[in-house]
Amino acid sequence: MPAKDKKKPKPAKEPDITFFHPDLLEIPADGTAPYLKGYKCKSCGMLDFPKQNICQKCWGEDFEVVSLSRRGTLYSVTDIFIGQAGMETPYIFGYVDLPEDIRIFCQLEGEIGSFTCDQDVELTVGTIRMNREGLPIKSYKFKAVDVEAGI
Ligand SMILES: [Zn+2]
Repeated sequence: MPAKDKKKPKPAKEPDITFFHPDLLEIPADGTAPYLKGYKCKSCGMLDFPKQNICQKCWGEDFEVVSLSRRGTLYSVTDIFIGQAGMETPYIFGYVDLPEDIRIFCQLEGEIGSFTCDQDVELTVGTIRMNREGLPIKSYKFKAVDVEAGI
């Protein structure tokens, strides 16, 4: 028997299903599309993201969770080549403007250098970094709108 066959196979790593931003991202159990959670003030109706403790407009403390648009426009984008610990470079950060007049700071999923300002992007769920065991932590990201899919 060759030496390499004596080694026990390493157990396959299970994906980390702990989401980094549970207050911000909803992935419905029924398989429908994930969405970002907006927080709508019950007193004045102001919509905010991410979650705030008090309304920025009226200081109200009660919020209704609403689903935000899955599509937006890329306001700004930066390719990152020297990253933080646990983050495999290169990666892409950007700001996405949603129709609700909310600007989302997020990672973008796609090729380095492939994004341009004002392009249409849509919500997706992907790996944003690795945890200490080297397993992926998933959260919201945005990607280029898949034109060919005709969505
Ligand atoms: Zn308010």
